[in-house]
Amino acid sequence: MPATVAVIGGGYGGITVAKALDDVADVVLVEPRDAFVHNVAALRAVVDPAWPERLFFGYERLLDRGRVVRDRAVRVDGTAVTLGSGERIIADYIVLATGSAYPFPAKIPIEDRAGAIAALRATHDDLARSDGVLLLGAGPVGLELAGELKAARPDRAVTIVDPAGDVLAGGLSGLAGGFPEELRAELRRQLDALGVELVLGTSLAEQPPSEPGEVKAFSATTVDGRRIVADIWFRCYGVVATSDYLAGELANARRANGQVEVTAELRLPGQDRVFAIGDLTALPEAKMAKAAGEHAEVVAGNIRTLISGGDRLAGYRPGGPAISLPLGPAGGASYAPGVGLLGAEDTARLKGADLRTGPLRETFGQAE
Ligand SMILES: Cc1cc2nc3c(=O)[nH]c(=O)nc-3n(C[C@H](O)[C@H](O)[C@H](O)COP(=O)(O)OP(=O)(O)OC[C@H]3O[C@@H](n4cnc5c(N)ncnc54)[C@H](O)[C@@H]3O)c2cc1C
Repeated sequence: MPATVAVIGGGYGGITVAKALDDVADVVLVEPRDAFVHNVAALRAVVDPAWPERLFFGYERLLDRGRVVRDRAVRVDGTAVTLGSGERIIADYIVLATGSAYPFPAKIPIEDRAGAIAALRATHDDLARSDGVLLLGAGPVGLELAGELKAARPDRAVTIVDPAGDVLAGGLSGLAGGFPEELRAELRRQLDALGVELVLGTSLAEQPPSEPGEVKAFSATTVDGRRIVADIWFRCYGVVATSDYLAGELANARRANGQVEVTAELRLPGQDRVFAIGDLTALPEAKMAKAAGEHAEVVAGNIRTLISGGDRLAGYRPGGPAISLPLGPAGGASYAPGVGLLGAEDTARLKGADLRTGPLRETFGQAE
């Protein structure tokens, strides 16, 4: 009998580990959405109406042998996964890959593709009738959204407010101050050229009077007395790891912020057969799709080793701070240790036009 591997969550990490083990195990991928969401391109999808459909990839052709169960794990202990429907999956190996949530539109809380596309289109239409946009947060999401907004409509006023004194000051979640000054300087230069107004080192005295994403003209004041006028605003901070389903002794691995402790082999401490990957993990590195994919490769290799009776497992070493941050289709900056800083042209070549959808078409069996 082949081993059963339950993979919880079909994001970047979950799809990679599920596909990599499909030929040696009975893989069950548990995911409440009806389609994978390519978050990396989510911000383009609210400014360019050609993009919302391109963000979604149906799971139908992801696996040859394994199955994808459209449901949510409500309880996971050392050996079994309980789904929202009440079904229990008894597994030899469990891979936790439930990632993180983030305010819309960077991540989309709607689980059906049609509803998610409708929400992105509605935000596109709301933005089209907004002359002033306020973004709270000068991290990667705030900067990328500002770049998309300006590239799509240069005459629109875009203001970013952040209590930190510089852009990308928090590094990426879990990685304090990981980026070099030369990257920040290049991003500031390009944002300035686009006409994005950076209001740093202060915060709003009060939250705006409208909900995020609601079109309603307002003026807001910062604690240092600056007045900002806008028609719509978005929250561009607040990532939360998704791990509320952990039960029994697995719950001991859960930190207060929802992230989950892992060993070098990416197992939960004290667990031989339960692994965690991606944004969920408490690893000291930037939370990135690229890292989630690398975790998945290590875990797939380790589960293969265990299935074949081996015990020499591979360890994962967190990578250095790397990012490729587009500011619209033709702008942006990138940085990686060993590569250094790359400017707008290289970033656009790496990421600008197709936002890395090509490899996903292949993964989901949609390549021509
Ligand atoms: C706007 C934006 C741009 C980004 N750009 C880049 C980039 O250019 N490069 C890069 O490397 N990274 C980028 N990232 C980061 C990247 O999106 C995340 O690091 C990545 O999504 C993490 O993948 P993951 O598999 O850990 O989790 P996720 O992608 O969050 O997937 C988790 C999955 O688990 C499912 N799930 C949740 N709860 C349950 C449950 N109880 N049961 C079953 N399933 C569940 C969810 O529905 C989801 O499908 C970007 C992020 C954003 C928001």
